Amino acid sequence: MRGTLFDKVWQAHLVRRLPNGQSQIFIGLHLIHEVTTPQAFDMLRARGLRVAMAERTIGTVDHIVPTRDQRRPFLDVMAEDMLSALERNCREHGIRLLGIESGQQGIVHVIGPELGLTQPGMTIACGDSHTSTHGAFGSVAFGIGTSQVRDVLASQCLAMEPLKVRRISVNGCLARGVYAKDVILEIIRRLGVQGGAGFAYEYAGSALDRMSMDERMTICNMSIEGGARVGYVNPDQTTFDYLRGRQFAPQGDAFERAVRWWSSMASDRHASYDDEVVLDAASIRPNVTWGINPGQSIAVDEKLPASADPEALAFMGFRAGQPVKGTRIDVAFVGSCTNARLSDLREAARIVSGHRVSPHVKALVVPGSQAVRAAAEREGLDRVFSDAGFEWRGAGCSMCLAMNPDRLEGREVCASSSNRNFKGRQGSPTGRTLLMSPAMVAAAAIAGEVVDVREFAPAEMAYGD
Ligand code: SF4
Repeated sequence: MRGTLFDKVWQAHLVRRLPNGQSQIFIGLHLIHEVTTPQAFDMLRARGLRVAMAERTIGTVDHIVPTRDQRRPFLDVMAEDMLSALERNCREHGIRLLGIESGQQGIVHVIGPELGLTQPGMTIACGDSHTSTHGAFGSVAFGIGTSQVRDVLASQCLAMEPLKVRRISVNGCLARGVYAKDVILEIIRRLGVQGGAGFAYEYAGSALDRMSMDERMTICNMSIEGGARVGYVNPDQTTFDYLRGRQFAPQGDAFERAVRWWSSMASDRHASYDDEVVLDAASIRPNVTWGINPGQSIAVDEKLPASADPEALAFMGFRAGQPVKGTRIDVAFVGSCTNARLSDLREAARIVSGHRVSPHVKALVVPGSQAVRAAAEREGLDRVFSDAGFEWRGAGCSMCLAMNPDRLEGREVCASSSNRNFKGRQGSPTGRTLLMSPAMVAAAAIAGEVVDVREFAPAEMAYGD
């Protein structure tokens, strides 16, 4: 035992060592959605198996839902079929499904935390790469494929290899206009998109200590983009305050007992790590990706490196040595499980307020969940966005991956608060994605091009000392 949270959670959930050297790990929470489950349920059915622990399984619908008109049946027959299959499977196996009509639907990585399902010390699995988001609460959470979804449905366990642990400490204060999104883009840029292979990332340091749960979720969400299957933050008072009173969190005395156990799962003061990286928060600037993976980013006031990947340059239409600032955009997207929580929408709204979206830009805001949407509407954020010319949509994954009607067309350039800028990710094989913080997306929407949010809206910046 190295005394890290990862090791403690692993040991607490270890069922047995398998003859092939892998570990059988118990999964505390299995989150399911419409895309990676139909085949898994079919495989269960083919073997005459039932879901082992329906009470530890919870479903929602996010990837394929239209965000403009969510009335059933959906116009897209395939999307309707997928949701119907999930509904049927959940009914048959007694699984709680938070569907469109529930008022609690949303992106799986947004609703888990906001409902208090995600808790420290847990193991969490979901058929989506960005399950690492839940690590913000001090859980060990990872994405799985369809055959593993089947395994968890059938046994509530997975066969896995343990991971090494790299502590990444971000110390000091973030400058004005620099957000959690910039921190994780900076980490991925420095360590590489494969740098985390075989590691769990433990995020620490005084900058992380000060972050809200929403910000920690943004950081952990993109661990997978740095090659780390798992990313986590040790649970602390911020974690406990967030969870208190949430629907699925322990209540009353049970909550206090849970806090004691959750606290014990945090990494020990003298825990040993396989690797350590330290970053100075003050050195981080607003980041923008210029390429075709999330590691290909620069600070907004930098120029593209001379060594820039020629394939990425050609695809994106950039030249080495040119700035990314000033790039004309066609679409602005505030959404996704990385940056569609209430605090993200608030930051974007602060920039947008009193301005108009540039005439050549299509801009949309897609809340991460129905609860986020309702909370934003209570604050009047929907009116701020609508008055500025943004489309205010229903909850879903939307343009993060375009398995729904929200897609880029042709060579459009999208300023996006999502997490992946792979070729074709946003629906058009030739579409181009520039990842950045929601505040930067909002500023780009107004300006019609990539701008430095620190210059564009200096009075509206949230951070800074
Ligand atoms: S928002 Fe994007 S990354 Fe997140 S769950 Fe949906 S498709 Fe996956």
